[in-house]
Order: sequence, then C-alpha cells, then structure tokens
Amino acid sequence: MCGIFALTQHREAAHIAFLGLFALQHRGQESAGLATLNQGHISVHRDIGLVSDIFTAETLARLPGTAALGHVRYSTAGGDARGNIQPLAARVNGINVALAHNGNLVNAPELRDDLERRGAIFQGTADTEIILHLLAQAPGADLGAKMKHVSGLLEGAFTLVLMTPTHLYACVDALGYRPLSLARLNSELDSDAQPSWVVASETCAFELVNGKFERDILPGEMVEIELATGKLTSHTLPDRHGADKAQARRCVFEQIYFARPDSQLWGQSTFLFRETLGAKLAEQAPVDADLVIPIPDSGVPMAMGYARASKIPYAIGLIRNHYVGRTFIEPTQTIRNFRLRLKLSPLRQIIEGKRLVVVDDSIVRGTTSRRIVELLREAGALEVHMRIGSPPVKFPCFYGIDTPKRRELLAQQMNMSEMRETLHVDSLAYLNIDTLHQMAAPQQRSANGQSGFCDSCFSGCYSDKFAQRRLREEHAQPSGVQS
Ligand code: 5GP
Ligand code: MG
Repeated sequence: MCGIFALTQHREAAHIAFLGLFALQHRGQESAGLATLNQGHISVHRDIGLVSDIFTAETLARLPGTAALGHVRYSTAGGDARGNIQPLAARVNGINVALAHNGNLVNAPELRDDLERRGAIFQGTADTEIILHLLAQAPGADLGAKMKHVSGLLEGAFTLVLMTPTHLYACVDALGYRPLSLARLNSELDSDAQPSWVVASETCAFELVNGKFERDILPGEMVEIELATGKLTSHTLPDRHGADKAQARRCVFEQIYFARPDSQLWGQSTFLFRETLGAKLAEQAPVDADLVIPIPDSGVPMAMGYARASKIPYAIGLIRNHYVGRTFIEPTQTIRNFRLRLKLSPLRQIIEGKRLVVVDDSIVRGTTSRRIVELLREAGALEVHMRIGSPPVKFPCFYGIDTPKRRELLAQQMNMSEMRETLHVDSLAYLNIDTLHQMAAPQQRSANGQSGFCDSCFSGCYSDKFAQRRLREEHAQPSGVQS
C-alpha cells in the first residue's frame, strides 16, 4: 500500500508535491520520495522516514522544476526498506523518467523470473523495478505507447504514474483496485496561464493544496498530460480480462479502513460511507447498553453511525496518544507489555459502571482488540459488546493491503463463539457482507448490478489465477507457526 502525488506546470512543484505527500502520509510511513523535472533533467530526493522529516527547506530547494512526482511507501514485513524507496528514476531508451507505483502485482514473480532469464539486473525487490525493465523493452514509438503495452502485461492491482521530460502518464489497472484522482490547481497558486494538473491517490491531498477535484481516473484508463500545453488525453489500456471487463474490483477495504475519512473515494465520501456502515450495524446487531464508544481513530465514524441509529449516547472512552510512532523501539519485555497503553488510555470517569458498545472498523489478528477489552474492563466497564463495521477478515489480500497470512487471521482460526471467548466480550457482531455491497454508489455498479467492490479479504474470491494459486500455496504451508 502506498500513496502517489504528482503535478504539472507549477512554479513551486516540489513544495506543492511535499504538501500533497504530507496529506497522504497515512498511506505509507516507511519511506517517501520526490522527483522533479527541470528542463528535461530529473532531480530526486528519497529517504526512509516520515514526509516532514525527509523534506526540509534545504532538500526542497535542491528539487527545482515545474513538474513533480512523489510517493509514500507503506512498510511491509521483511522488505528491503532502503532499496524499495520510490519514485524510481532511470533512463529508458535514452529518456529520463521517474516512476511511482501503488498496489501489488500478483504476477510479479513470473515477470521477474522472465526478465532475469533475459538478462535484466535488479537492485531492489519492489514491483516498480519490474515495470521499469518492461518499459525499456516495450515496443512503441514513445513512452506513452510503451506504458500502454506494459500495462497489458501486469496482473493485479496498480496505479502507476510516469513522468518524462514531455509528459505525465497516470494509469489505473483494468479492474480499478486502487484509487487515483485528477484535479486542477486553483489559480491563486499558479499565476501561469497554462493549467496545472494534479494526480493523487486520494482527494484529501487536493484539499490541502487547494486543488479542484476534476474526476477519478477510471479502471483501465491511462491519462496523458502534455507538459508544454497542459493538454489532457484519455487512453484505454489493453485488457487482460476480456469478458469480465465491465466488472470493476475496487478495494472495499480502502473505504472501510485505509483511506482518510475526508477523502472522496470513487464518488463517495469515505466518512459518510463508514458512518452509514455503523448505522446499518446498529440495525443488524442491536444491544441494550449505556454508551457507544469508538476505538480511535479508525472506529470513530462507524461508532458515530451506530450511536445515531441506536440512539445510545456516543462517548469517548479511550484517549489516543498521537505521538507513538510505528518505529517505536521496545527494548524490554516489560515495556513491550505496555505497548497498547502507550497508544490508548481509558477514561475511567466515563467507562466505570457502564455497559459499553465498543465499535471498530475491523479485526485482523485480534491482538489489539483483546488488549483493548482488557483495558476497558480494568477501567470498570460492566459489559463490553464489540461491534465491527465490516465482515470478518478471513483471507489474505494479494492486491496491496498488508494483511497477514491466512493462519494469523483471527476469523480464519475461530468461529464466532470462540472469538467471543478469546476477546473476552459479552457479545460480538460483524457487519453483513451484503450490506457492504449495497453501499456501492449507483454510478459504480456494473451493468449486471454488481457493486464493483473487491471483497476477497472477506470472501476468499480472487479475480485471477495468480492470487488463487498463492492462496493454495499458503494453505499448503505447515501451520502452527504464529508470529
Ligand atoms: P487487531 O485486533 O486485529 O490486532 O487490530 C484491529 C485494528 O487494526 C483495527 O482497529 C483496525 O483499524 C486496524 N487495522 C486493520 N487493518 C489494518 C492494516 O492493514 N494495517 C494496520 N496497521 N492496521 C490495521
Ligand atoms: Mg484501528
């Protein structure tokens, strides 16, 4: 999982792109990078860490140019953090380019093996390098044509942005797993007569830089922006799916958990989507209780919806400390046991003697949820009723959401009553999967009325043979080893 931000025709391209990346920080905290284009020359600054630490006035000053492409990367376990920082800059057929990629190619191992057999040399382990090699070998008169060709070789989830001395190309895979949107920059920020285009993984990045939302880039679309004129052309990417083309596979977990609540994803407000899921959950799984409390931050919109529909008062029962980084170093076992308390602290004055409905967006491994329930009971909660605003996560995601292996997923190991017991809750309920599909916006639905959401993490239904095979391989691995 990652975030991409790019813009064209702007005097302060690096500064604006820095702000855009800042707004997308939630999509990846492992590393970030920015490439700018100045008269055919590409400058890059990339590092491990958070956007605000990596980019300073000095580093931004070393990124001159009028177009920029930036990336934030999510940490993946065991990955080569330094070798995988994006965007990648390279010379392809003598032309300077920068490339950024979000998503996960399910046929990456096959593509890599094939390229290596033909002599390609790889520096890192990221899929993005595969795409660069494919670009270098692709037929086509210009990089736009090559990009189109390469898109047809990739299977799985991708949004891709390529910056060249003359163009910016932005692609979304044929099934549209990951979001990518287009905006124009407000004229106050840009005194040039030419239009400034902005491309971002989420619309919350447009808000920060005063961009005016134009539209989403569609599944199977490549947008071409000519840098000299700002002219925008839409292309259709080659399709590997044939008859299935009409059926998009938008990642519903983006709407449930991953995207920022102030984004508009695929035509719908992420906040309202979650709030409504909470309200539906209250209808499907009511309970007699005194207070509805969210598990912050991800459970907040759903808890608000649950409270609205159930008419049970909404309250804050857990205070989150926002200064606990993901990179917090835990030196001893004693400190490790306090890990959750570092992040969440119970409000005894609110919780004590109360019957609580505790709302969260999802349960993955169940470790955090279990500790939170413990914390609430220690603070005097009389009853704890856990309500989850999405269906049970039972299957791994091969399309870019960093869910653990199948056997580590709580809902894969246990049935409802076992989960209730292990989480130590008085009751437990999840949202119905049909409700989730009903939430798709009418304009997103395909001709046969299907929602166009990918629900493979809940259903185990994968759209391609590569993911199906990976699930079988995982299933065949010896179990009993848990991290
Ligand atoms: P668990 O009880 O499974 O340990 O943790 C559940 C929490 O993990 C939920 O609050 C949910 O917001 C969060 N979560 C869900 N998916 C992901 C993910 O892909 N990455 C991370 N870091 N957290 C997630
Ligand atoms: Mg959470």
